[in-house]
Amino acid sequence: MYNVNNITKSTVNKQKYYFYLRIVYKILIFILLYSKILIMKRLEKYKHLKVKTLVKDEIMDNLFSSNVTNVEISGIRKFFNKVSKVEGAVSLTLGQPDFPVPKNIKNAMIQAINVNKTEYTANAGIMELRHEISKLLRGMDINYLVDEITVTVGGSEALLCIFAAFLNAGDKVLIPTPTYPAYESCVKIFGAEIVNYNLNSDFTINFDSLNKLINEEKPKLLVLSHPSNPTGAILSRFERDKLFEILKEKDIYIISDEMYSSLCYEKYYSLAQIDEIRNRVILVGGFSKMFSMTGLRVGYVCASKYITDNIMKVHQYNVSCATSISQWGACEGLKYSMGDVTIMKTEFEKRKEYVYIRLREMGMDTTLPRGAFYIFPSIKKFSMSSEEFCTRLLHEAKVAIVPGSAFGTGGEGYIRISYSYSLEVLKEGLDRMEKWLKTLDIS
Ligand code: PLP
Repeated sequence: MYNVNNITKSTVNKQKYYFYLRIVYKILIFILLYSKILIMKRLEKYKHLKVKTLVKDEIMDNLFSSNVTNVEISGIRKFFNKVSKVEGAVSLTLGQPDFPVPKNIKNAMIQAINVNKTEYTANAGIMELRHEISKLLRGMDINYLVDEITVTVGGSEALLCIFAAFLNAGDKVLIPTPTYPAYESCVKIFGAEIVNYNLNSDFTINFDSLNKLINEEKPKLLVLSHPSNPTGAILSRFERDKLFEILKEKDIYIISDEMYSSLCYEKYYSLAQIDEIRNRVILVGGFSKMFSMTGLRVGYVCASKYITDNIMKVHQYNVSCATSISQWGACEGLKYSMGDVTIMKTEFEKRKEYVYIRLREMGMDTTLPRGAFYIFPSIKKFSMSSEEFCTRLLHEAKVAIVPGSAFGTGGEGYIRISYSYSLEVLKEGLDRMEKWLKTLDIS
């Protein structure tokens, strides 16, 4: 039996329900439209800030220095950026130690802030730090007085200041290949000319070729870089003495980049140890790798006073001084964190042995590194360019390393693996690489 009253009641309730639903719906639509109008109004306010990206044809000729246009972005960075786009990739690309900054250094920097040591320092850097650098070098048989040391914003600023102080357009600079790419880029920036000298197959200096180039090209500067990024080669006693023999009568200045001096696994040799030639050696060093403080940016350049005075002019107008807080940190590190440096070195040495053995077991033609934290195996037998090898390894095996071509023409046919990663990460990366290599046809 139908109850007419009940049916009417339920119909009325339903109508009421739909009525309210429609009202809520309309309110929501109103809120949405109103918010949109508000957002559009806000955007309108910032419209003038919109940047129009110019295409190449719209950029006026001669706008940028042709020297700078000639410089390419670092191949190391280019490859590192590729890695982030491949999910699950193991990166063995960077020259960044995986240790935290030693505690003493951190505390010294905090203390420096708390006691307001945040003003400009002397252009050359704080006296206490230069004194400690002088002491550190003396321990390596290298003699530079406090007045001959300039603290810089990392080794990079030191290099740029040196090249700026020395180079006129057209001057020639002898640069090893393969090597750290910044030297060639700096030389290009100042419109000078790069003359590459080749290395032997074990990455030692080829003296015949070097001697010939010095005599024929009459370069103003010679770059030495030991321990080497990317090869891990160090300067042997024989090489140091032979270099002295060749260079002592020549009118040539030597930039000796010793950024990795704290990571040398054998006895340390440097041309700066020979007093008779020290007046023509400009030594670059720093704490980025030594104290694992790459982002804190402290390096140094050592040279005779007459050279330092000119480097200082560039440094002064470039940055005034290195960051005060980081300088205090580095100073404390030299006094109290040398134990941490030894611990890091021991760990890197362990990793070096592991990576070297693994690569040899895979059948890679590899020279044992003697310093820094890189290994540079040959890939010549795979009949691929280093770029192709690394791109395929990244996409097919999800391991990122750097193509040797990023280190100059002499780097083609090689790859750079950084072992500044934990043993677990290295093992995973090398396992994947080994599996991938087995899929290649190398007949
Ligand atoms: N020299 C060499 C050989 C390097 O490998 C690097 C950095 O990787 C530098 C200089 C620059 O060092 P910094 O990070 O202190 O500027």
